[in-house]
Amino acid sequence: MGRLRRLPYGANYLRWEEMGELREAIDQRILFRFQTEIESCADRLERLVAERLGTCHALAVHNCTGAIRLALLATQPSVGEVVYIPSVTFVAVAGAVLSCGLIPVMVDVTDSFALDADRLPSDAQRVIVAHMEGHVGPVPRGVPFVIEDCAQALGGRHASGRPAGTDGYAGTFSFHHNKVLTSGEGGLVVTDDAGRARLMRRYHDHGCRRVQGEYPAWEPGSFYGENLVSSEEVAAIQLQQFRHLDEILEGLERGYQLLKEEVTGGRFIVRERPTGDVKLSLRVEFSSERGRDLAASRLREARLPHWTLDRYFLPTHPVLLERSSIFADGFPWSLSPRPPQDPAAFNETRERLARTLCLCVSPEVDELEQKAEAQAFAATLAGV
Ligand SMILES: *Cc1c(COP(=O)(O)O)cnc(C)c1O
Repeated sequence: MGRLRRLPYGANYLRWEEMGELREAIDQRILFRFQTEIESCADRLERLVAERLGTCHALAVHNCTGAIRLALLATQPSVGEVVYIPSVTFVAVAGAVLSCGLIPVMVDVTDSFALDADRLPSDAQRVIVAHMEGHVGPVPRGVPFVIEDCAQALGGRHASGRPAGTDGYAGTFSFHHNKVLTSGEGGLVVTDDAGRARLMRRYHDHGCRRVQGEYPAWEPGSFYGENLVSSEEVAAIQLQQFRHLDEILEGLERGYQLLKEEVTGGRFIVRERPTGDVKLSLRVEFSSERGRDLAASRLREARLPHWTLDRYFLPTHPVLLERSSIFADGFPWSLSPRPPQDPAAFNETRERLARTLCLCVSPEVDELEQKAEAQAFAATLAGV
């Protein structure tokens, strides 16, 4: 009991006997998606994702950071333009914006750590919302380009029933080791905008027009690009992982409900999640940071998996606080006359983060084990 999960979600489901696509790719001896003679794994993956999400266009790429960059670049911005991002998210979101020559401006979050649309200026053109640890936040209305970063929320749904990632202009997903499904590294971008999907596809493959099995073609009017093309062995593993998505989502849902039943009436409040969330954790909020830290140390001693969201607070991250850059002239920050955003403006959020603890749900164990774990969580927290 109180077993610490050693592997993140999808990694627990990596099994040789399910690697038919990977074996096939190796048997073919072709791991480049544009050289295969049968339908490529990347094509199959994109078709599967488009079907599952009810979206028109899906593109497999190296990772989610690349997916965010493609979604931004396909809006054809001018350098130095502003992109609004949440004050609480992984720094990759800011890095993706900056590496496109754009300026991230932080917008504070609501008490569920989702970007607060009421704080956006009325002329906002580009906004990234990030569905952190499975919480599917709202998509701001009246903004031409909203990117839903679903790196941590594959399989989530909005209150309307729409799959997370399909309610704005584009949605991005990660298959990094720590996410819901994994292929070590890997990403996807989806959109219903056919023209911009075409731009993304070209840019991600050196700006070329690609015909399967042929050398790439650049016609007059082509633009430069990069290489973000996914690889067959990665797509093959992603196909295997997708077969476990519903099982993982159901396991999370069941574990979350059990945890919510057991963990009540301590010196904390439970922040219930809406129906469509990917239930990666039960969030509890203490009245002080000391209380939270004490609870965390007790859970550590009891080997019960938990985490805090402190690391996602961006206003004091060096990239945003010091406006750091690898360029000698500080590009692209150098294009923006704005002073760095004052971290004190986000104090309330920082303070709430410091009181928040996430009790991890283990989807891969059976109901009895989940129940035992939930009881262990409850007993440990009751003593705080
Ligand atoms: C992990 C993560 C990313 C980056 O994903 P990669 O696939 O590692 O590039 C972006 N946004 C959020 C919210 C993440 O958690």
